[in-house]
Amino acid sequence: MRLASLLTAVAFALSLSTASGQTPASLSKDVQKYVRVQSPRIILMHVRVIDGTGTPAVEDQNVIIEGGKISAIEKGADTASAAGTTVLDLRGYSVMPGIVGMHNHLFYIAQPDLDSQWKSEPPALAPQMTFSAPRLYLAAGVTTMRTTGSVETYADLNLKHDIDAGKLPGPHLDVTGPYLEGAVSYFLQMPHLTSPDDARQLVEYWADHGVTSFKAYMNITRAELKAAIVAAHQRGIKVTGHLCSVTYKEAAELGIDDLEHGFFVNTQLDPGKKPDVCSDSAGDYTLEHMAPDSPEAKDLIETLVKHHVAITSTLPVFEGDAGGGRPPIRQQSLDAMTPQAREAFFLRRQRPASRPAPTTDQAMLFKRDMDLERAFVAAGGLLLAGPDPTGRGDVVPGFGDQREIELLVEAGFSPVEAIKIATLNGAVYMGREKQIGSIAAGKNADLVVIKGDPSKQISDVENVEVVFKDGVGYDPQKLLDSVKGRYGQY
Ligand SMILES: [Zn+2]
Repeated sequence: MRLASLLTAVAFALSLSTASGQTPASLSKDVQKYVRVQSPRIILMHVRVIDGTGTPAVEDQNVIIEGGKISAIEKGADTASAAGTTVLDLRGYSVMPGIVGMHNHLFYIAQPDLDSQWKSEPPALAPQMTFSAPRLYLAAGVTTMRTTGSVETYADLNLKHDIDAGKLPGPHLDVTGPYLEGAVSYFLQMPHLTSPDDARQLVEYWADHGVTSFKAYMNITRAELKAAIVAAHQRGIKVTGHLCSVTYKEAAELGIDDLEHGFFVNTQLDPGKKPDVCSDSAGDYTLEHMAPDSPEAKDLIETLVKHHVAITSTLPVFEGDAGGGRPPIRQQSLDAMTPQAREAFFLRRQRPASRPAPTTDQAMLFKRDMDLERAFVAAGGLLLAGPDPTGRGDVVPGFGDQREIELLVEAGFSPVEAIKIATLNGAVYMGREKQIGSIAAGKNADLVVIKGDPSKQISDVENVEVVFKDGVGYDPQKLLDSVKGRYGQY
């Protein structure tokens, strides 16, 4: 019933904004068809506000949007639609800040010939998902995201330009440069750095071409990482890393700004770890042997906090390994995939009889990482959130961002804390907390309207009704419909 009244109000609004001739921004026809609410003034009436700061939800508020910004948040009061003002009756709905996805990607990892034994012939390739990924993110409530390593950097930069110009739908992008990967690499599409000077040149070139972040990868050397960090910092750009050859502690001391994948890929205790070389264990051993109350964990967390190194939690990409029928299957997510992507998804969910059980207890590692992430936050560390839609293929853009929030709650954060990690913390990391990341007067109207109350039941974050980006309300269902059967192809 509420939905019906919402839709009526929206239909009314659309005709109004056309009549008043004040349609904000210059959205192309291609974008306009995904817009559900657009009006000079919008009132989200009688809505529950989860403001992204971690404080308890506030019932029955009116949130007023004008000129793409949140102009006021007032006590809930009945207001009627009028010329230039659209009122959405949102009793039973909640509003939270747009998700700031900090480990998101615009590609898919394809393993040709993947079989039921999980074998595939090299090379694995990462086809660019410039069409589907931005729509999936926006539909899920992601309004800003870091690409966290690019394989087609020009495509990502031009996509950002076209989204900002209103030509294509999608979130605001922090485009990460090509992966800063060492000389030895599994991935053909990554640059394979040969020296610190090579690293410096790469950073400078791409920074000059508009890249706004960098990510170091598994086989980089300490000297190359240092050179990249210095070059990036000279231009006010931050560097994160999915590391292996360099330990977390070493990277913190070299000045890195962020480390990906929670505590899963720290290699400092791995047997046979040689400097500048990735270990066989790639961090599993260290995670298994680093209880949160151990001296090693305390020392590491202290070092990270002292050096202001953020940690990005990417629980969804590890969830499948934890077993037990994880992750839950979402029909909408399957619907987004090509038949081939769906087949790969199901093959990877099966454990072939011939495949030996993993040497470490993956469910224990999953829990251990969650405990370390909580210890890091308790010690004052800045935890960020992202799904990392790669790996097993069971993490899909947008749906994965929502799942990350649910898994943070499973880790022991309260629902409003989990939402803060996925919204305000990312904004703080990017130095954009004055514009985005929470619901406050004067901030950009990047908002997610949700049916239900995720402050009580976190899975309600999946029930996205409207996504506002810069004050324009997008229809998640229309965005999802446009992607149907395409994720995994383009
Ligand atoms: Zn990734």
